[in-house]
Amino acid sequence: MSKSKGYAALTAKAQLAPYSFERRETREHDVVIDIEYCGICHSDIHQTRDEWSDYQEESIFPMVPGHEIAGVVSAVGSKVTKYKVGDKVGAGCFVDSCRNCAECQRGLEQYCSVQTVWTYNGRDKEGAPTYGGYADRIVVDENYVLRMPNNLPLDACAPLLCAGITLYSPLRHWKAGPGKKVAIVGLGGLGHMGVKLAHALGAEVTVLSQSLKKQADGKRLGADHFDATSDPETFTKLAGSFDLIINTVSAKMDWNQYLSLLRVDGTLVVVGLPEKDVPISAFSLTARRRSVAGSQIGGIRETQEMLDFCSKHGVACDIEVVPIQKVNDAYERVLKSDVRYRFVIDMASLAKG
Ligand code: NAP
Ligand code: ZN
Ligand code: ZN
Repeated sequence: MSKSKGYAALTAKAQLAPYSFERRETREHDVVIDIEYCGICHSDIHQTRDEWSDYQEESIFPMVPGHEIAGVVSAVGSKVTKYKVGDKVGAGCFVDSCRNCAECQRGLEQYCSVQTVWTYNGRDKEGAPTYGGYADRIVVDENYVLRMPNNLPLDACAPLLCAGITLYSPLRHWKAGPGKKVAIVGLGGLGHMGVKLAHALGAEVTVLSQSLKKQADGKRLGADHFDATSDPETFTKLAGSFDLIINTVSAKMDWNQYLSLLRVDGTLVVVGLPEKDVPISAFSLTARRRSVAGSQIGGIRETQEMLDFCSKHGVACDIEVVPIQKVNDAYERVLKSDVRYRFVIDMASLAKG
């Protein structure tokens, strides 16, 4: 075991505070990553506050959150072939899976039917709790490590590892591209990457935001249209117009209203994870053979494909870098939708205590 330093929530809803813990010894296939940046995902807030208890096993505390991890390889195990010391690498929402089930064989490790080992708030295959990226180092099997773009700033790429892949995967699965009308609901961390990626894929992109406050940003990020969902006229004007709507909103809302915006055979893909169930009327679906679907991050192969796509198209995240001492303030600002558009922790600040 080796000592690691980070920030943790000691109990549910507690403020994050400095915390020391043990990382496992480096095994033959392990890569040790010195973490330089870690993004703040809304899921970190849901989990440190234990908001998903209706749907998941109880959260594990103390919890070191963070699954948008970017850094540099500082050591490798004796059998590692994919990475060497000095490489710019990342780790996302999971760090292992069974590797044998049908889903793992298809590169869908996030849907492993045996066990996806989540980067934090999970248990490894030996049953020990996992600790995430609000920390100085992490030890990850080379098969679950990603190669980061060399031509883009590492801090702005960290959130690709969750926000980026969570939008890229459904955009690809539901074939967003030229001739397709795509709406992104919620212009936060996930949403702003949805706009950039859908635009880079060639789709016609509309942002559906609560107000028009972020309109100029939306257009700059690549949106063709921007509408406010607080204006009832929006739902009349856009009825039956989209092929694909991706809903990134973390709060409960009326999904039937959004279904009415789909054309025949259109799909509403849910990626935001509200705390409570949301009712859907059968008529919202039957009227135009519409579908509701969900999507969860992406597998390792697809995450690497997304990183390479971003490298090629010069796509990175719009970020505000904060020292770790400001993490609790950053959480409050995310909750107020006051983030443009992802907070990223500069891990060098950890040394300051
Ligand atoms: P975020 O940065 O807080 O963005 C959410 C956006 O939703 C806000 O910026 C806001 O956009 C809108 N919004 C917030 N409250 C709202 C309300 N009451 N009504 C309508 N719109 C509201 O969060 P995020 O990090 O992008 O994460 C979004 C959600 O996705 C979270 O629930 C997170 O846990 C989940 N998530 C899921 C996956 C997955 O694999 N499925 C992966 C990562 C995260 P506007 O100001 O533009 O309205
Ligand atoms: Zn996330
Ligand atoms: Zn599996």
